[in-house]
Amino acid sequence: MKDSGKKFMRFYFLYVQPWQFLMRRKFRKTTFGIEDSIDMPKAAIDFQRDQTTCNHLCIGDTGRHQRYLSDYYVFEKQPEAKSMDLWGRGFPAIINLTTYKSADDYQQGLKRQSKGAHLRQIKKAKSYGYTCGRFNFEDYSDEILTIKQSKNFRSGGPVMAALFKKKPSSKARTEVPHEVTDPSCPNHWYLYWGVFLAKGDSEQNKTLAGYIKLNRVGNIVHIPGIMGHAKHLRTGALKCLFLETVSWLIESEEPAVQGTQYLQYGSIEHASKGLAQWKKNFLFEPYVFKSFK
Ligand SMILES: [Zn+2]
Repeated sequence: MKDSGKKFMRFYFLYVQPWQFLMRRKFRKTTFGIEDSIDMPKAAIDFQRDQTTCNHLCIGDTGRHQRYLSDYYVFEKQPEAKSMDLWGRGFPAIINLTTYKSADDYQQGLKRQSKGAHLRQIKKAKSYGYTCGRFNFEDYSDEILTIKQSKNFRSGGPVMAALFKKKPSSKARTEVPHEVTDPSCPNHWYLYWGVFLAKGDSEQNKTLAGYIKLNRVGNIVHIPGIMGHAKHLRTGALKCLFLETVSWLIESEEPAVQGTQYLQYGSIEHASKGLAQWKKNFLFEPYVFKSFK
């Protein structure tokens, strides 16, 4: 990120976000029924530092992540605080992956939450030909930019890449896609999942309709970005992608997934009420961070 972008984010976290949290006190009570932080589920975060597989990138990422999570309410630091009036503290939106025995178990939860509507939409998306899978960023960097620029405002707020249009590199995609490799450290990584619409048989003709960027830092997996192309927003494609991604986190036997416990997507106060409702529909719950190690 360029210096001006970093400055903007610092300004946002210091001065904008606390107000955002404060303005949503009533909303979190009515939508999520939060009365008191004492009774809320608590997540003990283990950054799983200093594994034999760790490198210098892991150290930087765990440090950054701990600073980021410290902006939320942390029980161990503020155990006496009972009131929801805590200045500038938000509640992370979390799925506790270990409460689901299998991907099917999570699907059943989704079914109960939406009376089957989500699963019907996902089935419909599959019937349109959407497929999901991990991809290498190198193959789709231009398409990710196109997706970001397809809508100026999202439920998460304004999209900088759309408002300050940067041109795609116009680099032709290689005929054979880059290999999707395992992360060098299984405990700390960034990776991408995408939902695609095939056009013919060629891998080159597969269109990226939406993507999720994931960042694992120890036992917590964070979602820095989830976005669909404006043309594909009403097709159920993103719902399909989200279910496939969570299913992978719950039941894959790949080393990259072993030891993960929490999936976090911002807070319940971030962005629009529509996005908060989306999180609730996909079984995210407000948590309190118990401790960090
Ligand atoms: Zn590591």
